[in-house]
Amino acid sequence: MSTSRRDFLSRTAMAAAGTVGVGAGETARVPGDRPVPYQPPKKPIIVTRETGDTTVAEAYAMLEGGADTLDAALHICQGREDDPKDHSVGLGGLPNEDGVVELDACVMHGPTRRAGSVAAVQNIRHAALLAKTVMQRTWHVMIVGKGAEQFAVDEGFHRENLLTDDARKIWLFWKEHGNGWWGPGLDSPDWKPPAIGSPTQGPMAMLMPRHPAPEYAQTIRDTMRRLSAMAERMGIRPELRREAALQVLWPTTGTIHVSALNTKGEMSGATTTSGLAWKIPGRVGDSPIIGAGCYTDQDIGSAGATGNGEENIKVAGAHTIVDQMRQGATPKEAGMEALRRIARNYNNDMAKLRYLDMIYYIVRRDGAYAGVSLWSTRGTGVRKNFVVHDGVLRTEPCDYLYEGTTLSIHPF
Ligand code: ASP
Repeated sequence: MSTSRRDFLSRTAMAAAGTVGVGAGETARVPGDRPVPYQPPKKPIIVTRETGDTTVAEAYAMLEGGADTLDAALHICQGREDDPKDHSVGLGGLPNEDGVVELDACVMHGPTRRAGSVAAVQNIRHAALLAKTVMQRTWHVMIVGKGAEQFAVDEGFHRENLLTDDARKIWLFWKEHGNGWWGPGLDSPDWKPPAIGSPTQGPMAMLMPRHPAPEYAQTIRDTMRRLSAMAERMGIRPELRREAALQVLWPTTGTIHVSALNTKGEMSGATTTSGLAWKIPGRVGDSPIIGAGCYTDQDIGSAGATGNGEENIKVAGAHTIVDQMRQGATPKEAGMEALRRIARNYNNDMAKLRYLDMIYYIVRRDGAYAGVSLWSTRGTGVRKNFVVHDGVLRTEPCDYLYEGTTLSIHPF
């Protein structure tokens, strides 16, 4: 569905609910002496990241069969957590700088207005289910580290080593050839652009279709070739060599967020991740932070994020989005506002914003939805997208704040 049609439906639905968007970027209340009662969506809806598996369709069937929205969301999360080839969540997630996989996750259950979260938890694959267990079995909202692991075992979760052979090899490769840099951060006054590249000039520039720097493209190709040869010498299998090289140059982010809404108007959100590859042990991103990586308000809608967790925490992204919708913004407008707050934190300095990325996944209680990203394209020049299922499973391009390609944060 085109963006304009999404917006049209969104505004029509909000008009029916007594609120409407007026013109680009503006919203206003419709004065009405006879408010129209809320109409739940006619079909369930799921918004998430691409999964490459069958779990979104299965989760949709669960919703059609009357399953709880959080259970449906967790079904998708677990599909990714179980897949050793997905290096951004659960089993096979890329480890911290010590080679230990540490997972973050949170859930929010709209109908009961409850939340649960775990952070920096080791040896437990189903982090999102563990977050739900925190929600259901305790009066706590968040349990971290060793405590979370022990809690999981006490609750019957299986303890296992999550570092797969492939992930271990990529980690060893990074140890050998990466530089372990995590500071000063992009938000530090001491931050300097990478020595051998800048967003408009240098090796990274070739990644940006709008600012090609062909004279440096060769440098990138040579570097990739050199790293791939090193990966071969370290016994990394051929299919994995390119990925290993990319992980050294640009540490992975990934993550799964799922927001799900049923025809009763009930909704839930879940986010799960192994976080930033090669992070400092104990580093916690936005994914387990209620209000940043995920936020669901049964009266309004649900939102979640993938991308640079530090930036999302600073704008409380998911909560900001839901709150904007509370004030009448469409899902797209609400998402754009959260992205603008990230940009504002850097005084809209494009030389810095080039290193950041964020995608927000958003569903409003009436079924209107959006996927919005800070940048329009991935490194390969392919448009950033998100997945929707509302009876038809499809991938849609994200609306975006800036045209171009993120560089991801790394000093190269
Ligand atoms: N937001 C996650 C984190 O910062 C990573 C990601 O979504 O890519 O840990």
